[in-house]
Amino acid sequence: MIRLSDVVKEYESGTTALKGISLRIEDGEFVFLVGPSGSGKSTIIKLLTGEIVPTSGQIAVNGFSLTNIAERQIPLLRRSVGVIFQDFAMRAVGSSPREIKKRIPYVLELVGLEEKTDRYPNELSGGEQQRVAIARALINNPSTIIADEPTGNLDPARSLEIMRLLERINHLGTTMVVVTHEKDLVNQFKKRVVTLEQGIITSDGDGVGYNAR
Ligand code: ADP
Repeated sequence: MIRLSDVVKEYESGTTALKGISLRIEDGEFVFLVGPSGSGKSTIIKLLTGEIVPTSGQIAVNGFSLTNIAERQIPLLRRSVGVIFQDFAMRAVGSSPREIKKRIPYVLELVGLEEKTDRYPNELSGGEQQRVAIARALINNPSTIIADEPTGNLDPARSLEIMRLLERINHLGTTMVVVTHEKDLVNQFKKRVVTLEQGIITSDGDGVGYNAR
């Protein structure tokens, strides 16, 4: 479960990126987090992964309280949250090599890349590379996945495939938080949509409000 209570984030520059956010995401939910550039989406992701700390307010992720988390617990938190970045960046989170190796065939099959096991990254299409990013995020068997603009560089058909894949992974039990600014894509899925504007949640619902914008 993800819970933010009255979260404020002011950067050292003086910018208040989040001006009091309260949000609760239950285990197993699929949530789109949308909003214009600069509205605070990345700040929320960084808070949820423990990369930055809130200026005030409370954050809990998968049983970890991020307000007073011990340094040595951060790897455990990060193992419980798989993050998919648009730029395919990989982050070390410290499962043992043996555990990772055991899960590789499973996650490759899940993302539909079992035939491409021996390929180099430059031999894969953009959509396939993004499937690799999803496979990586799944390797620690996280209870939550946060996908940051997962379809950023893909054409509409590939984007839809990636979103369907995230939906399938969600159906298998993983909580899914998808940050995107692709309204058309969001509107094709009947999911909860949380809209952020200038550091405030301006709507939270089944997507109808988002359609109307
Ligand atoms: P989004 O992901 O929705 O584009 P961000 O969370 O990146 O929004 O940014 C929210 C606001 O915080 C913006 O005004 C941005 O300029 C500012 N901001 C983001 N990161 C930093 C930082 N490291 N230092 C200072 N200001 C930042």
